[in-house]
Amino acid sequence: MSGRAPSADGRVLLVLGGTSDARTLAALVADTPGLRVVSSLAGRTRAPVLPVGESRVGGFGGVPGLVAWLRARDVAGVVDATHPFAARISAHAVAACAEAGVPLLRLQRPGWTAVPGDDWHPVDSAEHAARVLPDLARRVFLTTGRLETAPYAHLDRLWFLLRSVEPPTGALPRACEVLLARGPFTVEDEIALMRDRRVEAIVTKDSGGTQTAAKLTAARELGLPVVLIRRPEATAPEQVADAASAARWILARAAAGGTPGGT
Ligand code: NAP
Repeated sequence: MSGRAPSADGRVLLVLGGTSDARTLAALVADTPGLRVVSSLAGRTRAPVLPVGESRVGGFGGVPGLVAWLRARDVAGVVDATHPFAARISAHAVAACAEAGVPLLRLQRPGWTAVPGDDWHPVDSAEHAARVLPDLARRVFLTTGRLETAPYAHLDRLWFLLRSVEPPTGALPRACEVLLARGPFTVEDEIALMRDRRVEAIVTKDSGGTQTAAKLTAARELGLPVVLIRRPEATAPEQVADAASAARWILARAAAGGTPGGT
């Protein structure tokens, strides 16, 4: 429980965001009486889709910075709704909330599940994906984002279609087409793209959710292998799988007049 007096605007709920789940959650709880919802974005994309309500942009400065941010405000709780692969900020949230004595909830959508017809090759990292790719295909659709191209840069005998929201900044494979696009994508469009570029395998992170799942259906329909990078393990003690459950966690405590996660 915070020792700070409540401010006139109400207690702060910090939503660590950068995902559609975080935006959904911010919209669901925006009008909660006595709660000031602040969404936090890393500031990686130049034109981010902003959540409803108040937001702040940029890193906190590691665990000490996040602890200081929490202690400078009357924070009722933190919901870590960052992407399943944003492991650093999630670890920082666990450490900082423990240190500042602030309740933490992890909102993380479930990973994808294979269905009959899928040919998935689970790997532990991008480096691992790069090791298995030459045995699977010559033409690869890389959908893991603009920041994670370097592990594939040495694969001179493969051709890559790299799709990202903004231009990549790191090392690129020698034979590579960059396609700038923001999802969601339809199955029909994914099939047309993969056929047009004669894609033989795709690489994806196990992000889960519906926004980018069409490529998996398209790969199944085309009989293509999918190299699936497994998620890092979530470490927050309390976890939910959807924004509605996170909103209930917040609203139940707000209605009871306690702190989210407290009694
Ligand atoms: P990360 O490696 O876990 O975090 C790196 C650093 O970025 C953190 O230490 C923190 O800086 C800052 N940061 C990350 N998320 C933040 C947030 N929501 N608010 C304030 N600071 C944040 O994160 P990442 O993988 O680069 O992802 C960055 C953002 O993009 C996240 O918000 C995530 O939800 C979103 N995103 C990531 C992916 C992905 O595949 N990784 C995909 C889609 C969206 P300080 O240490 O200075 O606090």
